[in-house]
Amino acid sequence: MTKAAITVKNVKKEFKGNEVLKGITGEVAESQVLTIIGPSGSGKSTLLRAMSQLDAPSSGTVIFEGEDLTKSTKKDLSHLGEKIGMVFQNFNLFPNQTVLQNVTLGPIRVKKLSLEQANQEAMFYLKQVGMADKAAAYPNSLSGGQKQRVAIARALAMQPKVLFFDEPTSALDPENVKEVLKVIQKLAAEKMTMVVVTHEMNFAKKISDKIWLMDNGKVIEEGDPQTIFTNPKESLTKRFIEQVV
Ligand code: ADP
Ligand code: MG
Repeated sequence: MTKAAITVKNVKKEFKGNEVLKGITGEVAESQVLTIIGPSGSGKSTLLRAMSQLDAPSSGTVIFEGEDLTKSTKKDLSHLGEKIGMVFQNFNLFPNQTVLQNVTLGPIRVKKLSLEQANQEAMFYLKQVGMADKAAAYPNSLSGGQKQRVAIARALAMQPKVLFFDEPTSALDPENVKEVLKVIQKLAAEKMTMVVVTHEMNFAKKISDKIWLMDNGKVIEEGDPQTIFTNPKESLTKRFIEQVV
């Protein structure tokens, strides 16, 4: 039996009476990859934010490392930033900092590493994503794929327990998509616990231990990739997996 890294129970989220998450229950197992697919507006980003407490749910429970986050105070939650990594569609790098500085900033501020230690660790993670040779470069000189790989190194440098990706390749040119997916695939092979929202169906099929298909604020189908891709129950799932070439 695998241990749960994150468990959600009946998680709901509403914005001004509009219920966007309508009761999500399930778990992300340690060292596994949960991939979330589904149409635009179905609630995927809202669910990631609720799971990571970036934007707490309106009701329901989120358990992370045995701790009920929905019962925690703000102060209890302040350590979460170290344990949960986020990679967004638009990279969110600091434009006036070098690649190396982008990666060392968190470890220096939050983990209180010395500059020397932070630099050393940052170079390790930059190597891991194939960006060590760009350590002195500024983000605006990089391609989208390179920026996203730096963003991944930055998240890794905090040594998170779980990494969340919200459509990490959606803002990239097709030629940049592959290099970013390869990095995420490598992390999956290294048993990083991850939750990935993506529209890349081939990739989802390859890296996922479990797939959730969301529609209209609900998970309407859940399964391992073999089942989802060969024997989908829902017609919406069928439409999604037809994108696999
Ligand atoms: P997805 O990521 O699947 O495209 P989202 O989680 O971004 O979907 O959005 C789900 C729904 O919630 C959408 O209808 C969106 O307009 C709404 N929504 C998301 N964030 C907010 C917000 N901060 N305020 C109001 N409505 C929101
Ligand atoms: Mg989204």
